Amino acid sequence: MDAGQPVQPRGPGLNPGESPGPAAGASEDHGTWITTLQQALQLEVERGFENLQGRRERFSVFLERECRRPPEGLIQRLPEAAAALATLADLFRRYDDLSQAQRQSLLRRCRERLHGLRRSLNPPRPPGPPRLRLASSPAPSGCGGTAGRRTAGLLQPDTPLGEVPGIGPKTATRLASLGLLLARDLLRHYPRDYLDYANLVRIQELVPGSTATIVATVKRCHAFASPRNPRLVILELQVHDITGRLRLSKFFAGKRFSSPGWLKAQQRQFPPGCSVAASGLVRQTPYGPTLQDPLLEVLDSPGTPVRSRQIGRLVPVYALTEGLGAERLRQAIQTVLSAAAHWGDPLPAALRRQEGLLDRATALRGLHDPADREALRASRHRLVFDEFLLLQLSLLQRRRQLARRPARPLRMPRGQSSLMASFLELLPFQLTQAQRRVLSDIQADLEQEQPMARLLQGDVGSGKTVVAIAALLVAIEAGCQGALMAPTEVLAEQHARKLGEWLSQLHVSTALLTGSTPAGRRRQLLQDLANGQLQLLVGTHALLEDPVAFARLGLVVVDEQHRFGVRQRDRLMGKGLQPHLLTMTATPIPRTLALSVHGDLEVSQIDGLPPGRTPIRTRLLRGGQRQEAYELIREEVARGQRAYVVLPLVEESETLDLRSAVAVHRQLQEEVFPELRVGLLHGRMPSPRKQEAIGAFSSGHCDVLVSTTVVEVGVDVPEASVMVIEHAERFGLAQLHQLRGRVGRGAAASHCLLINDGKAGQAQQRLELLVRSSDGFEIAEMDLQLRGPGQVLGTRQSGLPDLALASLSDDGEVLEEARALARRLLELDPELQQHPGLRQALLEQRQRQAEAGSLN
Ligand code: ADP
Ligand code: MG
Repeated sequence: MDAGQPVQPRGPGLNPGESPGPAAGASEDHGTWITTLQQALQLEVERGFENLQGRRERFSVFLERECRRPPEGLIQRLPEAAAALATLADLFRRYDDLSQAQRQSLLRRCRERLHGLRRSLNPPRPPGPPRLRLASSPAPSGCGGTAGRRTAGLLQPDTPLGEVPGIGPKTATRLASLGLLLARDLLRHYPRDYLDYANLVRIQELVPGSTATIVATVKRCHAFASPRNPRLVILELQVHDITGRLRLSKFFAGKRFSSPGWLKAQQRQFPPGCSVAASGLVRQTPYGPTLQDPLLEVLDSPGTPVRSRQIGRLVPVYALTEGLGAERLRQAIQTVLSAAAHWGDPLPAALRRQEGLLDRATALRGLHDPADREALRASRHRLVFDEFLLLQLSLLQRRRQLARRPARPLRMPRGQSSLMASFLELLPFQLTQAQRRVLSDIQADLEQEQPMARLLQGDVGSGKTVVAIAALLVAIEAGCQGALMAPTEVLAEQHARKLGEWLSQLHVSTALLTGSTPAGRRRQLLQDLANGQLQLLVGTHALLEDPVAFARLGLVVVDEQHRFGVRQRDRLMGKGLQPHLLTMTATPIPRTLALSVHGDLEVSQIDGLPPGRTPIRTRLLRGGQRQEAYELIREEVARGQRAYVVLPLVEESETLDLRSAVAVHRQLQEEVFPELRVGLLHGRMPSPRKQEAIGAFSSGHCDVLVSTTVVEVGVDVPEASVMVIEHAERFGLAQLHQLRGRVGRGAAASHCLLINDGKAGQAQQRLELLVRSSDGFEIAEMDLQLRGPGQVLGTRQSGLPDLALASLSDDGEVLEEARALARRLLELDPELQQHPGLRQALLEQRQRQAEAGSLN
């Protein structure tokens, strides 16, 4: 398995695998069934409705079968669902004959149905006291709520969008393809940006490239069909104010606009002398500036206020989908916004006052339809607060739950010489003060009956592994087993080798289990593990696979947590194991991100490096200066040191002019360093060959190792003193810092040369930070600002929460406020009995995440 490959326990969607048996926790099983179908639907939507070929069968075959034969328990609980699912099954049988639009519509129906099933299985508790408004105005009976019948006032958060007045089935289908199914989803479809039509200026002051509004007098109006395209109608206005004149054009495509009646009506609408307000993007033309596709409104007089929702305002811009116009989307959102005023607020008024927050309905309106910048700011603040609050509530609740499940306390026999002490004596060095402090934190945790959940952060080379081994020995001494998991095989193998060296001297049995462990050996290992003979297992994510069963698992250490998803952690817990858990990362993530992703963990930190390290000298070179890098490599190798050359890619890319590992390896060996031994390491090599390459490099049989980023984590060769990184502009800063940490592990002065082949000046600036700073936190902070959290964590594994609006780099303060409130609330009221609105919102959030599936 290569670096960063997430574990996909089941194929993406199309492999329901074992059918959910009649196990206990039935509604959980149905939940899984629903989720599997939802994932398949999502994939099909993403692939453009082409009837995806799964591993075993086609999408439509899978859906037909599953809808035809839903889990029995499900039908027992919801007998009325059978008929509806059977109808869907019939439609899926004919999937190949359906048009694209029909497929879209079928998928939307199916998603709505599944959503409905999930809701019926876990009916949300009605929030708070009985809703008086509903009681006095009975809901329409039956399910005859066809589009347009309901009034906005009756729209509920979970009303399907197809039933919202003004949203027809076509629009609903298009909205569904944006993942928007219910009324409340639409309000969470936040604007991407705003056009600032509030900028009211004179004609003279129009600045190309900005959006602006003018108020002017119509001199002439002319509406005519385009001479070249009779279906295109042009409305042309000449207007002026006291500073100048302007020509405005608006285009209307479509036959209905070219009727003489329509043209006349247009002309009548803008009689000479009338005042108009016009908003739009200012564009420079050969005839002077104009407004591109302006929004127009006739005013009674230049002084009257504008009625339009858009002119003179901040106009939201949404992510759109094909066939769904901005105007239509804004209208739909307006309709739902009016209803949302009655939906209540998960935060009671007293709390809102205390935190200085708007009420939620006002905030939603202020975001989708802001009166001005200040309203927008305050609205956004409230909604960001909500996102963080829910996130922190669920993380803190989770932490409480984990803490309630007992773990085995792991106590060392006091006084007598322990395994751990003997291990520390084996080491050729003393632990640093920071290492000792962290180790005693961990020991204190291990003695508790609550499972430890601790994140250990420390810069590359700070000596986390030694601390982890000491902790594992505590567990082993207490009669338990330990597991050490690494994100890549390379790293796991290296850990295993090191551990084997040390621990065999202490008579502790260790073994390595990865995806490429041969079957026979694997069987033996699993047996030893199950009967308790094997004390310490090192491995990759393969450790999480089902047949791996421990006799007495006491402590799990997860190395390089930034590549190890929350889900995988859950999987361990899901095996009924309550081990103590230590996760380690060398990519120190900024506090905001740590709180959001690991808010359920305690954090300790090894600050500073062990003594005797000389700092790494980092330089930035242009492609043309590559020779300097090669010179340095030659000098260092002559001194008995070794060098890495790191590339982003394995093979030459056709589209990008990138130097690939394979090509560079050939060139370096044949042309540049014929006298040196140049090795090659990349993620696509079979594991034994990787091992061979690293072995040769670390034993000194190879001087220069050309590698992709597989060396990023953990590879430890103290004699390596040069690292050349090609195409440095293509890496994230934190990743470069991590890579750089592969050198400077011994006493020799080390060098990192970043070769920037990019043209953009911004890359240069970014890279200069690495020359300036060796502080992992500063670098990570910068990375977060420049690239955003998804990139920093690696999008697929991140388990990044449901943050639609909040920014981890800009909203740190709001996060702290929300976290503080979450703590206070749970302190007094762990189950949120007093806050049914919040409880409900949490529940909805979990459902959304369940529906988003295990895709990350
Ligand atoms: P990390 O996992 O934090 O990147 P490692 O645990 O791999 O760092 O340690 C890096 C190197 O430093 C290893 O070779 C390790 O043996 C060595 N080392 C660890 N602790 C100390 C120490 N206190 N003094 C000197 N060297 C140490
Ligand atoms: Mg390490």
